[in-house]
Amino acid sequence: MSGRTGASNPNWKGGVSPERQRLYASAEWREVVRAVKRRDGGCVECGSAAELHVHHIESFAEFPSLRLHPLNLETLCRPCHYEKHRKGVKP
Ligand SMILES: [Zn+2]
Ligand SMILES: [Zn+2]
Repeated sequence: MSGRTGASNPNWKGGVSPERQRLYASAEWREVVRAVKRRDGGCVECGSAAELHVHHIESFAEFPSLRLHPLNLETLCRPCHYEKHRKGVKP
């Protein structure tokens, strides 16, 4: 793994559809990410505060209307996030 992580990594399993890139580049997304991270105060699985991602609880692909909904988002550190998707949660 090099320095690039998460959604900005082109090898990220979640894919890099234009839709996803557009969302992640938007001001709305950055705003909601800041709010969710502040709400959770770190990874909700292990409490880590390093390399935090915001994860879509209901699939990004299957529930477009929930993409920016704070209740559908949770803060995970990178290892917990990968683990979650490795277990079969769809991105
Ligand atoms: Zn964690
Ligand atoms: Zn995720």
